[in-house]
Amino acid sequence: MIYDQILVRYGDLTLKGKNKKEFLQRVQSLTKNKLKGLNVEIIKTFDRIYIKLNDCDYKEVIKRLDRVSGLLSYSLVKKCESNLDDIITNANLLLQDIVKEKVTFKVESKRADKKFPLTSQGISKKVAAGVLKAQNNLKVDVHNPQLTLKVELRSDATYLYTNEYEGIGGFPVGVAGKGALMLSGGIDSPVAGFLAMKQGIEIECVHFESTPLTPIESAQKVVDLVKKMAWYAPNNKIKLHMVPFEELHQQILHHIPDSYKITIMRRMMYRICEQVAKRNNCLCMVNGESVGQVASQTLNSMFVINEVTNMPIIRPLATYDKNAIIKLSKKIDCFDISIRPHQDCCTVYVPKNPVTKPTLDKCIAFEKNFDYESLITKTVDNVITLDIDVDSDLDLTMMGFEIKEIFKNN
Ligand code: ATP
Ligand code: MG
Repeated sequence: MIYDQILVRYGDLTLKGKNKKEFLQRVQSLTKNKLKGLNVEIIKTFDRIYIKLNDCDYKEVIKRLDRVSGLLSYSLVKKCESNLDDIITNANLLLQDIVKEKVTFKVESKRADKKFPLTSQGISKKVAAGVLKAQNNLKVDVHNPQLTLKVELRSDATYLYTNEYEGIGGFPVGVAGKGALMLSGGIDSPVAGFLAMKQGIEIECVHFESTPLTPIESAQKVVDLVKKMAWYAPNNKIKLHMVPFEELHQQILHHIPDSYKITIMRRMMYRICEQVAKRNNCLCMVNGESVGQVASQTLNSMFVINEVTNMPIIRPLATYDKNAIIKLSKKIDCFDISIRPHQDCCTVYVPKNPVTKPTLDKCIAFEKNFDYESLITKTVDNVITLDIDVDSDLDLTMMGFEIKEIFKNN
């Protein structure tokens, strides 16, 4: 292959001072971490990273860069010396390699090294003339070219390229601190988790499992989703807190009128999630709610459900429609897992007509029907924490029907 390096551009560099320094440290170590095991050389500079490919397959490198939040874009580049002769020679080598039939093209130059005698425009003209002389497949079109050859002239070297891959952008995961992601087995919450990580929030997952009221397969779905999300996490690892929700769930089914069951269940989830979050040094909760999507996500519902906690709640999908969410779900390879048919605690025994405009007074009155506080304490004390990484082969379905039975000794 003609390209010898990948030039990687950082994301949001409008950051200043200490934030910027931390951003750089994080994004650089994350990149290094994700490329572990590949025979590449990583050269870090203050405004970009160069990855020397050696013999490494560039597709594998790009696949891995696609999992690093905080990267804006990358290009396969050919490096040469910063003099016109070498630039033209290498531009010809590059174009000969990639141009197989007639194309229109233009040259675009950027001159970071102002000591160079020519202006950017001057460089473009000379390079264009040099390649036109050597190749007859090329025709200049400065307005609408099929191919643009970029020439980046820097003091250390010049970089030539014709391509640009978009990275996931955002901030390096972890730079913002940690959040507790409420993870169901559905389509939305893994996407919310991905978006939170992309915004710099490292996540730990909290799943409310109601085995044996709900099938063990629904807990397995969650394990499999965490495995997929872990590709975007530091060290390819994410903690999964399994909350034994069955007893509380049963109490809700017995003591709360149908139309308020989901509302009260969600108030309980928020209370528990807050405690699990605090125990694990998480500064916020993250969930997959999207305004108006279902009865429990009307603004009225959110208002009374949110009332049980003061912890910030990040809802990355609040304004997303389902199509946009599904597109992202496929991008992070979670969709096929999310659509497995097994029910979780929010879908099993759901009432036909949940309230869309619950009131706080009624919630408080209904919650007096049973002693939920001691149950919450017990539930939080019995949380089972699993470390899931991308290679995890944990198969709960082969182990039993109830999470608490499977992990008895923890
Ligand atoms: P999803 O597709 O993520 O399941 P949803 O549209 O089905 O979302 P709900 O079932 O109302 O919506 O849940 C809203 C959010 O509450 C979910 O996105 C998730 O963050 C959280 N949640 C729901 N059920 C659970 C659960 N069993 N464990 C943990 N979090 C849950
Ligand atoms: Mg759901």
